[in-house]
Amino acid sequence: MASYFISDLHLEPGQPQILRGLQHLLGQLQAGDKLYLLGDIFEYWIGDDVSNGFVDGIKTLLREHSQRGITLYFMHGNRDFLVGQSFCQQSGATLLPDPSIVDVNGEKVLLMHGDSLCTRDTAYMQFRQMARNPQWQAMFLGKTPQERIEFANAARKESQAKGQQNMAAAAEILDVTPEEVPLIMAQHGVTTLIHGHTHRPAVHNLQVNGQAARRIVLGDWYNKGWMLHNRAGELQLESFELN
Ligand code: MN
Repeated sequence: MASYFISDLHLEPGQPQILRGLQHLLGQLQAGDKLYLLGDIFEYWIGDDVSNGFVDGIKTLLREHSQRGITLYFMHGNRDFLVGQSFCQQSGATLLPDPSIVDVNGEKVLLMHGDSLCTRDTAYMQFRQMARNPQWQAMFLGKTPQERIEFANAARKESQAKGQQNMAAAAEILDVTPEEVPLIMAQHGVTTLIHGHTHRPAVHNLQVNGQAARRIVLGDWYNKGWMLHNRAGELQLESFELN
């Protein structure tokens, strides 16, 4: 029984090779395996009540694999934080809070999407605080689907305009704040952290309270797929082709 960790697929109808990659990965898993979906699985998500053939297909895919004994966990990313219980029930997945601690090979491991570690992006941190508020979410989900799409497009345009003004600063801000990492790991009493979001797949060695520790960063699925798994025992970060 192995655990698999993926994030930042950014699934959307216009990139069918990403969905094929997910189908292929799910096909490799065996009953009893666990798959952790650690955020930004979808390019955007404006509410469980707004569905289409693409989303229905993904729900069906996930449900089929959950029904054959794959345990699915879903953590929110900054793009799909509005995924709710309805989607999870229909997919056979369990919603996992960010952060969460899980057992991997008998070790306590901290899981996060990773956006909350990027504290130098103060504008985003403000948006995050607002958008994770249940009252804001109720207000947003109370709008018509068309209004929600317009709101999301306007927000994306605004952030793109800001990005073009200061690409250098934006590129730096997109990574985690190095000082945040040992603090949050010490707070949770772990020496392994797994997260995505930054699209910088790597294994970083560090010290937490004088102990050897590691931060494993998952990759995005834009050009190839990335996964972390322990099917051969130790955790291993691996990339694969998307066709
Ligand atoms: Mn993200």
